Parts: sequence; C-alpha cells; structure tokens
Amino acid sequence: MTTRRRFLQSSLLTAGALALPGAGAAPVKSGAKVVSTWDFGVGANGAAWKVLSTGGSALDAIEAGARWAESDLCNATVGHCGYPDRDGVLTLDASIMDGDGRCGAVAALEDIAHPVSVARAVMEKTPHVMLVGQGAQQFAIAQGFEKTPLLTDDARKAWREWLKTSEYKPVINAERAGRPGSKPGDKHNHDTLGILAIDNNGKLAGACTTSGMAWKLHGRVGDSPIVGAGLYVDNEVGAATASGVGEEMIRNAASFLVVELMRQGRSPMDACREAIERVVRKRPEASKSLQVCFLALNKHGEVGAFALHRGFVYAICDTAKQDALLDAKSVYTTAQT
Ligand code: ASP
Repeated sequence: MTTRRRFLQSSLLTAGALALPGAGAAPVKSGAKVVSTWDFGVGANGAAWKVLSTGGSALDAIEAGARWAESDLCNATVGHCGYPDRDGVLTLDASIMDGDGRCGAVAALEDIAHPVSVARAVMEKTPHVMLVGQGAQQFAIAQGFEKTPLLTDDARKAWREWLKTSEYKPVINAERAGRPGSKPGDKHNHDTLGILAIDNNGKLAGACTTSGMAWKLHGRVGDSPIVGAGLYVDNEVGAATASGVGEEMIRNAASFLVVELMRQGRSPMDACREAIERVVRKRPEASKSLQVCFLALNKHGEVGAFALHRGFVYAICDTAKQDALLDAKSVYTTAQT
C-alpha cells in the first residue's frame, strides 16, 4: 500500500504540473473517476464506481456513494449511526450538486435514513435549494421516504456518557484505528462524507452528507448542506468538498473558494492549500485546535487535498486505482490536540 501510495502521489504531482488553466475551456473527457473524504470514502467510492464503470452519470454515482456511507453501521459521523446533538437528537445534513449548477440540500433532518436522496428530490422536484427541519421531513415523507427512528443504542450510550461532562470540544480527527492524530478515548465527533465524481461524458457532480458535529446545539447547521461551503461543482472548472469544523468553511465560502481558485488556473492541490491558508489567516489561534480539510477534483480528472492538521485521508477510484487511500498534506504536520 505504501509503495502504491507513493506512486500515486507522484503521478498526481506530475499530472498537477501539466495542468492547464481551465477557465472557459471546452469540457474535457478525462475518464471516469470518483474521490471521497476519509477512510470510509473507499466504501463510498466502491458503490459510486459500480455506477460510473457501467456508463452511469456522475450524479447517480455520487448519490450511490453517499447512500452507502449513510447506511454504514460503523460510521458515527454520517447518516443512520451518527451521534446526536447535545439534546440527544440525531439531525442529518446533506447536499448534492451537479456541474450545471443544479443543487439541493436538507439540514437538521430527523428520522429519514438517506438525506442525500432527499436533497436530490429537493433539487429535482422543487423550485427551492434547501429545506430544513420539520419542513424537510414533511417533504421527504410526501416523496415516499420512510420515517424511521434512527438513533442507535451505541449513539445513545455515547451521548449519555458525554452528558457527564457536557463539554463541546471537537477533537481534531475522529477516532479510527490507525488514524494519525487520534488518541485512544477520543470519540467520533466529526467527519463528513464529501464525494466528487467525473463521468465518461466529462460531467461532474458532488455530494456531502453528515450527522454534523456531535453534541452540537440543537438546530446547529454546519457547512455540509450549504452550497459553496461544504460543496461546490462547476463543469467548466471542477468540484470541491470539505470536512472538519463547518463554521470555518461557512466563514470562508470555502468550497466555492477552492473552485474559483482552480478557475484562476491553480491545480486542485494548490487551490486546497490556499483555501486552508485562508482559514489560518482569518483565525490563527483557533486553527491550532480544529480540523479543516478540503478535497478537489478538476475537469481534467486531477485531484488535490489539503488539511489544517495531519490525519486527513482521502480515497480515489478510477480504472487504474480501485481502492487507493492517500494521506493529505497539512499545514501542521504533527498531530495537534
Ligand atoms: N463539516 C461537518 C460539520 O461541520 C463535520 C465534519 O466534517 O467533521 O457539520
């Protein structure tokens, strides 16, 4: 894996060095590819790849990938098994966008298992972009989504444990075996699936889905369902998504920023790095103790990722690399806590 990772990283750097500025140019067919945040991105990519590799659209692929993550029984930060807010209520946020600027989102959605598909229904069946809370749930039920209690016993147990201190203190990387930056005993209190794809027709799409920051205030909405913050896609340029403490992405319109930097000719890697540096410049002290991560894919199929702190991993899947998991570079190279 290490050798392959090195090989992939150097291939990506080479590809980045040859990148041409994309603004306004004709769509380029680079071959299908899907990229996702975090280690669970490997599974999400697998579900998306089934769609892409049989000629499906980027939009169908990223929805399939996001649904996979939302159903993952090991994931305490996305979908079904997510940790709740400080009142013990599990609320889900999701967004979806295609490269033609069509988008939909839901925030603070309760008891509906696949928020990404509700977001897609908002995009395709309403004149709106975002529905929240009870209205989002009402819409989902009217569209045929089943209402079902989602909070798992494990999540309820973790919340009861958290209540003993009731301290809202996001850890830099949620606990997962072998993940740098995590300490034993850290609990999953953030991480989002951001997934971006390009299909064989050169069309881009992306989705972002999360249960948000664990132990958040009831009613808090993060970046993931906010178009331009947690997700942005433009067929003329590329796509970007984010994970980490969402307030920083919202403050910086961060995914939009990454795409606009690529429009100006930056490679996906440089664009992600510059967006991270913007976060640091705005809040240098705060940025020492919180995680922010960006992932970008341009219309040529080049990928970039950058994080504030070490420990962000991202998954790539295309015909050459079926299950690659790569370490992102970061501003702080030693794990901070
Ligand atoms: N960005 C998500 C939020 O702020 C959480 C995460 O990705 O870790 O809700």
